[in-house]
Amino acid sequence: AKAAGRGRYRFYEPSMHNNAANRQMLENDLRGAMERDELSVVFQPIFRAAGEDVVGFEALVRWQHPKRGLVSPTEFIPLAEECGLIGVIGEWVMVEALQAVHSWPASFRLAINLSPVQFNDPRLVEMVASALAAARVDPSRLELEITEGVFLTDCDTTDATFTKLKELGVRLVLDDFGTGYSSLGYLKKAPFDKIKIDRSFVRGAGVDESRNAAIIRAIVTLAESLGMDTVAEGIETHDDLQLMRSLGVSEVQGYLFGKPLPMSEAMSLAHRRMAD
Ligand code: C2E
Ligand code: CA
Ligand code: CA
Ligand code: CA
Repeated sequence: AKAAGRGRYRFYEPSMHNNAANRQMLENDLRGAMERDELSVVFQPIFRAAGEDVVGFEALVRWQHPKRGLVSPTEFIPLAEECGLIGVIGEWVMVEALQAVHSWPASFRLAINLSPVQFNDPRLVEMVASALAAARVDPSRLELEITEGVFLTDCDTTDATFTKLKELGVRLVLDDFGTGYSSLGYLKKAPFDKIKIDRSFVRGAGVDESRNAAIIRAIVTLAESLGMDTVAEGIETHDDLQLMRSLGVSEVQGYLFGKPLPMSEAMSLAHRRMAD
């Protein structure tokens, strides 16, 4: 394939991986990715740990690059954050994912990841509010997943944004809990409704299982005493699920139930599991 217009189809050498030139090319490609319809949203079901009810779906963005194939969000989201594209990408994901909610049972919620960088945008709350209004989705059905990274910058604005989001009526989830620092202080400060226990505590490679269990038990106790729900991500085996149930985790999510899929497939998978 050949260059078809400015910054379009580039060739990626493995040796260029991670260097500045490669980054620059990827950034150029990312700028046009939405226009070229290369981004999509996939959905992963979240289940109530006790029983098998679906409580909702987490939306996860995908980038189908014309040359590189699927580029992981762990690669292009940080890039988007650095080059100022996260705002438009985040808004696109929000609008796109909210469209799916109409075909869902009324009890299902939608979880969307927000980048800490989006909190620097003074119009964030307005963006969320108008996306909800345009899709005619009740704010209580939207969960915003936010990592501890949000607390590393500009505390006053962040606090105000959290307050406004709560006033809007959306639910706030502290994502990747336990992987950052000073998590406990953040729990005190920000009005989270739920804690998402990071995958590393569910399947800490090479770590004694009883230590993981002790940590998860402590997180559940803490969450309960603060009136928050818990969800564990990265549930891959029946043993994982049994353990989460025994530790009192309220919701579960992971490859055991299904990988993130395009909406129609995610929905039929969810229905099939509930029917089992
Ligand atoms: P995350 O928010 O922690 O999302 C969970 C990641 O774990 C997803 O990877 C998901 O596909 C994967 N996963 C789910 N179940 C399992 C499992 O059982 N085992 C394993 N090993 N992995 C599982 P994905 O989709 O590649 O996303 C990676 C990260 O990229 C996300 O981590 C999130 O931080 C970010 N991301 C994805 N979509 C968005 C988005 O729309 N906006 C923003 N700001 N960030 C996003
Ligand atoms: Ca997440
Ligand atoms: Ca995670
Ligand atoms: Ca994450």
